[in-house]
Amino acid sequence: MPLDVRVATSMAEAAGLLSSDQRTKFLSGGTLVMRDVNEGRLLDGTLLRLTDPAYRQMNASGPRVELGAGVTMAMVLNNRDLPFLHAVARAIGGPAIRQMATIGGNLFAETPYGDFAVALLALDAQVMVQSGYGSARTVAIEEFLGARDRGVSGLVTAVQFAKPQNAADFKFRKISRVKPKGISVMSIAAHLPNSGSRIVQARVAYGAMAPTPVRARGVERALEGKSLDSASIHAAKAAALEGTRPLTDAIATEWYRREVMPVHLGRLLTGEGR
Ligand SMILES: Cc1cc2nc3c(=O)[nH]c(=O)nc-3n(C[C@H](O)[C@H](O)[C@H](O)COP(=O)(O)OP(=O)(O)OC[C@H]3O[C@@H](n4cnc5c(N)ncnc54)[C@H](O)[C@@H]3O)c2cc1C
Repeated sequence: MPLDVRVATSMAEAAGLLSSDQRTKFLSGGTLVMRDVNEGRLLDGTLLRLTDPAYRQMNASGPRVELGAGVTMAMVLNNRDLPFLHAVARAIGGPAIRQMATIGGNLFAETPYGDFAVALLALDAQVMVQSGYGSARTVAIEEFLGARDRGVSGLVTAVQFAKPQNAADFKFRKISRVKPKGISVMSIAAHLPNSGSRIVQARVAYGAMAPTPVRARGVERALEGKSLDSASIHAAKAAALEGTRPLTDAIATEWYRREVMPVHLGRLLTGEGR
């Protein structure tokens, strides 16, 4: 059977069509789906496109940001209310990929892809998912990513998160062998808000250090309530590998990822090597 293309005009219609036919595949920016089509891994079924303008809407002027799942990396880069995410969006592919690649698709991208999802995890984002014709539900991103490989049913419509009060509290680094367009050896995002000079509610997330982006809970504990100084950074580096399960792939071995993670975490925290 040939591959068919359908167009939905509303998110409810798209979510309904996805839930009613397991052979329907959602096409967001298509940078991964179309590669599967072009390379013969996806040969039949239905590709579903969505033209609802709300899917690409951005509300980023206030303290709470909501980004439609169809927002592309290029749109993030052009948004002046999101300067803390510019380095993240710029780290994804080259200009042509960034024009197409969406936030929604990045949440599903297999390791070592998923750099934007790493940033969203450090921002404690909420993921809005619509299943069938019912109303959308909100899922914490950590739960969403944990359940992803068991098969998320439904359409991701948007993500929401609180904007960092101080852009300097949010740090991101992607480590790759080929610059500027290489695939991640790993990526690291940290949101380290301050009260006085103490870190409160530290969030640190890794990409390519487990089958999905994961929180670095040992690092968060080492930084919580401390000021960012050589002692706390030393403790954070000592805890850097807690909870990680890196894979060996064409980019790096598991061994290499473990060896260099504490070094890159230290550089992220000190701001060294930029
Ligand atoms: C040359 C190249 C370079 C790349 N470089 C990077 C990189 O540096 N970093 C990186 O993170 N990624 C990279 N990628 C991977 C990819 O481009 C990005 O992860 C991108 O964000 C995926 O988004 P998309 O909209 O293109 O996804 P699509 O290809 O449209 O979809 C990907 C998957 O997600 C599902 N999906 C998408 N949106 C939704 C939704 N709203 N609800 C439910 N399911 C959904 C689709 O059904 C599909 O299974 C690269 C890809 C290529 C081809």
